[in-house]
Amino acid sequence: MIIKFLGATKNVTGSKFLISSNGKNILVDCGLFQERGLKNRNWDKFPFPVKNIDFILLTHAHLDHSGYLPKIVKDGFSGKILCTEPTSEITKIALIDSGKIQVEDAEKKRKRHEKEGRKGLYPEIPLYTPKDAANVFELFQVVEYNEKIKLDKNIEVIFHNAGHILGSSIIEIILENKKIVFSGDIGRKENPILPPPEIIEDADFLIIESTYGDRVHEKRESAENRFEQIINATVKKGGNIVIPTFAIERAQEILYYLKKLLIEDRIPHLLTFLDSPMAIEVLELFKKYFTYLNGEAEKFIEKKISPFDFPLLHFTKSVEESKMINHIKGSVIIMSGSGMCTGGRIKHHLINNIEREESSIVFVGYQAKGTLGREILEEKQVRILGNFYNVKARIEKIEGFSAHADREELLNFLSNFKKFPENIFLVHGEEEVVGKFSEFLKQNFKISNIFIPSYLDEYKI
Ligand SMILES: [Zn+2]
Repeated sequence: MIIKFLGATKNVTGSKFLISSNGKNILVDCGLFQERGLKNRNWDKFPFPVKNIDFILLTHAHLDHSGYLPKIVKDGFSGKILCTEPTSEITKIALIDSGKIQVEDAEKKRKRHEKEGRKGLYPEIPLYTPKDAANVFELFQVVEYNEKIKLDKNIEVIFHNAGHILGSSIIEIILENKKIVFSGDIGRKENPILPPPEIIEDADFLIIESTYGDRVHEKRESAENRFEQIINATVKKGGNIVIPTFAIERAQEILYYLKKLLIEDRIPHLLTFLDSPMAIEVLELFKKYFTYLNGEAEKFIEKKISPFDFPLLHFTKSVEESKMINHIKGSVIIMSGSGMCTGGRIKHHLINNIEREESSIVFVGYQAKGTLGREILEEKQVRILGNFYNVKARIEKIEGFSAHADREELLNFLSNFKKFPENIFLVHGEEEVVGKFSEFLKQNFKISNIFIPSYLDEYKI
């Protein structure tokens, strides 16, 4: 069989891995490239005949794993897309939202280029529309965790809980008497609302994420303390707390942390805006699929107490309401998307706060290279919607809230294997990080069969 790497190779986004065996082609994940420098790949011709792909297996709903689905369906894919039920439901929301953003961004770009009298680097047409996104839905086939599914008489797949976001999976594919394991994104041992990743004990080939393969996260308790400190210090100065929030999982987890800090009387009650229609919709799914949550969060819901609600929490659905937030005097907490500041309402909250020394911008998730979020973390001046702004607000990053395993947790995942995988492919990490993780694994596990694939590389396995 052949495995072809079509994304998340020495970079984080665009996860797509194609397995070809005996005339069958299975694509694992179908993600969008989101780094500024790689986005053009979303418009490139797909590097394999789309109509020849039989199945897509989806590890989870994040757009860097699912966001290319509308495009591939538009281009002719008509097979089944297998994933868990929460993944299918969250992906539907994410894709519609992504379609809207694609349309808006294309229009904004067109206007800007028209004004400036130039042609942009990328096409001014949307990659796909919400209607294209809706065409994906009928192809979903939902699966249960740990259920053996036969794709045909020679191919079997099993989804295991990855503990990364609601519904996320580690996927096993068994074919040609070999077992291939795709880690997807691996969650944390101690997630506030999800169970830890399932233990996998054997694989012949392992394709594993390496987002944080070069570092160890701050402990959850210390992250919570820091979050508390940032909020209190910002309130004292009279600024706002702006949290670029991934709508899926992170928003709900942050609400949970805020509720916890409030219950423990560690922060004052502040007007808090969940300024993300998508996060609000996804929150409903967390309530619906509460049996997928861990014991702590499930207990809340069983007692009919929401782990995500508190008195001054407001859901801002319309853009008008969102803009009105900027007229409020006194400190407020604003959670808004997108999480890496690549689009959406967060941009106007940034414009209103980034030059205010008294405000804080708190990153609570991964910021990929080439995204506005990363630029805010690293630069003194950034461009937002075509204008330049000086970064004067307090900028903080809390990695302890990450939904990704850190190096130790990745090692822990690996150490559960009774027999080591014959070959390990490191994906979903920046080039430097993947290199460091590879060195670390070679030293600690005394294994040499570690590969770092490049874009479009294929391996006969
Ligand atoms: Zn993810």
